[in-house]
Amino acid sequence: MAVKLTVQVRLGTATEQMRSLLSTLVTCNQAANAASQVAFANGAARRHMSMRSLQKLAYDELKLTLSAQPSLLTTSKVAAAYSTLRANLREGRYGKPGSKRRARVEAKPVRFRSDAAQPYDDRCLSWQHSPTDPARGTVSIWTVDGRLKDIAYVGQPGQVAMLRSWRQGETDLLVRRDGAGAPTAFLVATVDVPAGALADGPHLFSPEGWVGVDMGIENIAVTSDRPLAKELMGRFGADATDGPGGEGKVSARRKKNHQLREKLQKKGTKSAKRLLKRRSRKESRFAADVNHQISKRIVAEAKRTGRGIAREDLTGIRERVRLRKPQRATHSSWAFAQLAEFLDYKAAREGVPMAEVDPANTSRRCTRCGHTEKGNRPSQAEFCCRACGFVEHADLVGADNIAYKAPQAWAQSTVPSAA
Ligand SMILES: [Zn+2]
Repeated sequence: MAVKLTVQVRLGTATEQMRSLLSTLVTCNQAANAASQVAFANGAARRHMSMRSLQKLAYDELKLTLSAQPSLLTTSKVAAAYSTLRANLREGRYGKPGSKRRARVEAKPVRFRSDAAQPYDDRCLSWQHSPTDPARGTVSIWTVDGRLKDIAYVGQPGQVAMLRSWRQGETDLLVRRDGAGAPTAFLVATVDVPAGALADGPHLFSPEGWVGVDMGIENIAVTSDRPLAKELMGRFGADATDGPGGEGKVSARRKKNHQLREKLQKKGTKSAKRLLKRRSRKESRFAADVNHQISKRIVAEAKRTGRGIAREDLTGIRERVRLRKPQRATHSSWAFAQLAEFLDYKAAREGVPMAEVDPANTSRRCTRCGHTEKGNRPSQAEFCCRACGFVEHADLVGADNIAYKAPQAWAQSTVPSAA
């Protein structure tokens, strides 16, 4: 078992060299857009298209601007973009079939910005690591103006150590601009770290070093830390008996509030509207109070045990969680964004690392064998792996997968600063 992480290093480039890197990105992305037109015209947005078949179709376009190896890498970038697009469509991240947003996405080819990242392989990029400095070295890199040699790189020593030992596959070149528009070049490499090495490695890269938080409907927050999960479920979960302030079950209260709201809305009289307003204020105070207590408890526990916190990236949470009708109203009335915000600022205040992970497949991946399938989750509450038979509460599996994804998300967010 290995864990995939990404490692970033910054390149030290002279003005002339930066110009070459930038025009390389522009040229490669023009070629990528041309190949993308071809891919789209051949149905790549709807069905699988292999890198090889795209290569065949786009060859004439690409050979006008790029030599053999860069053109191959550009095609693979385009093919990968379409398989991501198809996955996003499948997961409903652009809305339901037939929705406006989705139709707009499906109607035109994937477009690459002129400065979009470009993949490199060992033929176009080579590394020379410094034997004495654990954070530095040089690279030699292909550009449209010829090969640039002895370009210095610098990164965080822990990340560079992983880069030296376990770099795998392609590396992306990307250029970021600061507030004043000044460009800095980065290389983003993928490393395959053996699980055993992670345990001995820097604390923050160990999945055990993270508390994963799954935000759900029945249970507002479930953590990968089992005792903490049990405590939170007992206080704020669907079966909670001792809710905050002796109010009883949180979910029962949410349901009651919802019913009352519907009744008042139907009535529509002036006094009903006034009452509705008062109720909704009271309800949002209650939600804020619960969110404060939950976030406070999670951050305190992470801090006490020296771990980071990982939560889902909330973009698209509604698409991800497909709800049965009666749950829909209670879910949308709960402030998940607020809980995330409370977690973020309390973690920042206490110096606890906060990672935001892509929620894709966190409810579908088996934490025992890795098998990922929609059918692993027969209902909202159950997880049952169709490959190995592993059975667990679905929210706990979600929280575990979020913790599992944390190291990579964290590595991506800890870019060496351009300063
Ligand atoms: Zn399994």
